[in-house]
Amino acid sequence: MNRMFDYTPEQFELQKKVRTFVKKYIDPIARDVDANGELPMSVLKAWKEEGLACLVAPKEVGGPELDTVTCAMILEELGYADLGTATALGANNLCSYTVLLAGNPEQKKKHFGPLLEGNYGAFALTEPNAGSDAGAVSTTARREGNEYVLNGTKCFITQGGVAATYIVFASTDKCKGAKGLSAFIVERDRPGLSAGKVEDKMGIRASNTVELILENVRIPASHLLGNEGDGMKLAMMSLDSGRLMVAAQAVGVAQRALDECVEYVKGRVDNGKPLSAQQSAAFKLADMATAVEAGRQLVYRGAVLKDAHQPYSKHSAMTKLFCTDMAMQVARDAMEIMGSYGYTKDAYIEKVWRDARILSIYEGTNQVQRVVIAGALLKGTGH
Ligand SMILES: Cc1cc2nc3c(=O)[nH]c(=O)nc-3n(C[C@H](O)[C@H](O)[C@H](O)COP(=O)(O)OP(=O)(O)OC[C@H]3O[C@@H](n4cnc5c(N)ncnc54)[C@H](O)[C@@H]3O)c2cc1C
Repeated sequence: MNRMFDYTPEQFELQKKVRTFVKKYIDPIARDVDANGELPMSVLKAWKEEGLACLVAPKEVGGPELDTVTCAMILEELGYADLGTATALGANNLCSYTVLLAGNPEQKKKHFGPLLEGNYGAFALTEPNAGSDAGAVSTTARREGNEYVLNGTKCFITQGGVAATYIVFASTDKCKGAKGLSAFIVERDRPGLSAGKVEDKMGIRASNTVELILENVRIPASHLLGNEGDGMKLAMMSLDSGRLMVAAQAVGVAQRALDECVEYVKGRVDNGKPLSAQQSAAFKLADMATAVEAGRQLVYRGAVLKDAHQPYSKHSAMTKLFCTDMAMQVARDAMEIMGSYGYTKDAYIEKVWRDARILSIYEGTNQVQRVVIAGALLKGTGH
């Protein structure tokens, strides 16, 4: 796989380590997990042994505190191998951004402790009536003395059925709408918290996606992240970070589709010559490779902006919009070139195509990315 970004020698070393991990733990089971069930916990445990259980966990709590460029590189590798696994292992980053933004030292220990021990965490924002319109969250958090009492139902929560800790967004003041949302750390063993329906998905089947039910879940008031009313802002800022990682995975997926297709056309003989000798296929491959590379540059540009503490919200939305649509298009083109074989379960592209479909939906649909981009343009801030 070509790499067109100036990684440091340490990043190249880490890339090698991730590739070795993928060969040992992910490649051998990816198809079986896709067909028969979710990622075994042993993969997360092995990931933990590599020191990668939570890429963004800060050094102050014993984490690797990897920068955004390095995280993107790792998620691109995981996306290349299996997007479901990337989504599952990536959940520990998604649920951590809110804590990095607003957590005090005690909250950081509480949140990152279980993740660094080799458990999953989950980010619980979406509800049956609050998807794109996150401000419509109806889960409530009622203050009672030194506690909050949480009630409501979340849905489509990645790793929600297997997580040890959750970041839950709930309303502390219904009258204020989106401005009344707040973010909380909630541990799995709190009475009243349970997982409901497990989604039977068309792709990314290695990841666990569930309904999360909160019935009179009592948590200490000290589990509030930031202040009451900060929830919406924290959720959106967390998703700015998450979207860059979704885009990085999309680039990995697209590169995999391209590589699968290149290998196929070299071997397939059609009308007495290899498919690769046909200009229609070769030109299509050239366009696919160009699109993948354009996406990659958007991802790493966004990562550099974030690491340099520059505004990157609009760039992140543009990157997710471009890369996720690009991944789907490249997967589609690869399947087209590979003909009927590409449509069968014998071809990895069939799984790649099913997996890629989620990319433009989760962490904000691509219509929502357009809302963010247009909003930034029209506000006149430029970012
Ligand atoms: C596999 C999977 C994993 C997920 N993981 C998580 C998770 O870990 N945590 C979490 O909180 N959520 C998660 N989600 C939820 C996901 O982020 C939401 O489903 C997504 O944001 C879209 O919300 P919705 O499904 O309610 O779609 P809707 O909001 O109902 O949107 C339906 C359609 O209307 C369009 N639309 C809606 N509003 C607008 C608008 N203002 N302008 C233009 N078009 C609009 C949308 O683009 C979409 O095409 C996950 C979902 C899936 C499928």
